[in-house]
Amino acid sequence: MKAELISVGTEILLGNIVNTNAAYLSKQCASLGINVYAQSVVGDNDKRLGTLFKDAMSRSDVVILTGGLGPTEDDLTKETVCECMDVPLVRDVKAEENMVNILKGLSYTPSHNNYKQALVPKDSIILYNHNGTAPGAIIEKNGFTAILLPGPPIEMTAMFEEYVIPYLRSKTNDVLYSYTIKECGIGESLLETMLLDIIDNQTNPTVATYAKTSCSEVRITAKADSFEKAQNLVKPIAEEVIKRLGDNVYSTDEKENIEDALVRLLRKNNLTISVAESCTGGLTCSKIVNVGGASEVFKYGFITYANEAKMKLLGVSKDTLEKYTAVSEKTAREMACGAIKESGADVAVSITGYAGPYDSEDEPKGLVFIGCTNGKDTFCRQFRFNGNRQKIRESASVMALNMARLMIIQYEMEN
Ligand code: ATP
Repeated sequence: MKAELISVGTEILLGNIVNTNAAYLSKQCASLGINVYAQSVVGDNDKRLGTLFKDAMSRSDVVILTGGLGPTEDDLTKETVCECMDVPLVRDVKAEENMVNILKGLSYTPSHNNYKQALVPKDSIILYNHNGTAPGAIIEKNGFTAILLPGPPIEMTAMFEEYVIPYLRSKTNDVLYSYTIKECGIGESLLETMLLDIIDNQTNPTVATYAKTSCSEVRITAKADSFEKAQNLVKPIAEEVIKRLGDNVYSTDEKENIEDALVRLLRKNNLTISVAESCTGGLTCSKIVNVGGASEVFKYGFITYANEAKMKLLGVSKDTLEKYTAVSEKTAREMACGAIKESGADVAVSITGYAGPYDSEDEPKGLVFIGCTNGKDTFCRQFRFNGNRQKIRESASVMALNMARLMIIQYEMEN
């Protein structure tokens, strides 16, 4: 089944709102095994919508439209679609009652325009709206289906889940199943090289890599006529990918990020962590604290931006700062060792670097040193991150969390 999405709304075209409806619908269609071949955005203009919709009708089996079902003059989706499909609009008593009741609850008297919302495409499946006044509709004609949904995401998602998912399920036998493997530290191009033979040889499942800030994801997707069959197609490929990526894999849970994985590992091993930050200025601590249960594992956060703070709070030596500067391996190591000593944590990680925006020979933008210690062994890695100040700070934080994670894995192996 070939599907496509049309989002109607001038606000989206102007960039005033982000098209979250299309992202949601694409994801939902994928999990239903429906191929979405195109997504389009069009303003509140009946002629342009009509042209776009006719094109969509000629190449797709199903077109899902969102927005433009409201009561105002520029809400024209239903009228335009019905005109293109040659389907008349008829009054629906239940939709009218719903609209009148909602407006009554808001102490509004329905206007002539409000009654326009209670008109529905003749012989369509009407999608009653429990969260707003505009009903949606599924219109079937000559083997083609148009699905009309309201624009507000709360109304649209509720309607999609209640009516459209069961409807689409009844029309397709295929299920798509995706499995995500998240890695940190390899980098997207090396990752692709490591998996090239797998990526090139697969059609079902397909294997794709996606770059995130300093991390990447490998998504393996299979299509089958049942969930179990799709899962079985994915399983051996997932096992091979995990084997090749080794400890760089930090999660296979789509919702888990690097800080979640770190906190999970710390809790599992009953360990605590402290963080000493210079250029990231608290970002790393904040990421850890964002994770539920962080209080069990997070001890101290030192924001030591000035050299004075590095010396006073972490015991970094004046000599080190003068001889090697604040952005050096030696400083990063002393920061990590100071953090573990002052806080009594099991692991400490430190970050010092140049986040920009200035770039010079003396202060190369993106140069970052990350130290990590367990009180016995201390490691330091040098990085050269790309991007603006925010991206460099984000990359440094993610890498620091990953280094701490790897140190705990080392601890697990030794114990
Ligand atoms: P209403 O009954 O509220 O007029 P409608 O079906 O006519 O709904 P629109 O007027 O197009 O929908 O949009 C109403 C609001 O819904 C927008 O102001 C916006 O906040 C949200 N919205 C619309 N389309 C999208 C979209 N594609 N993604 C995210 N939000 C959207």
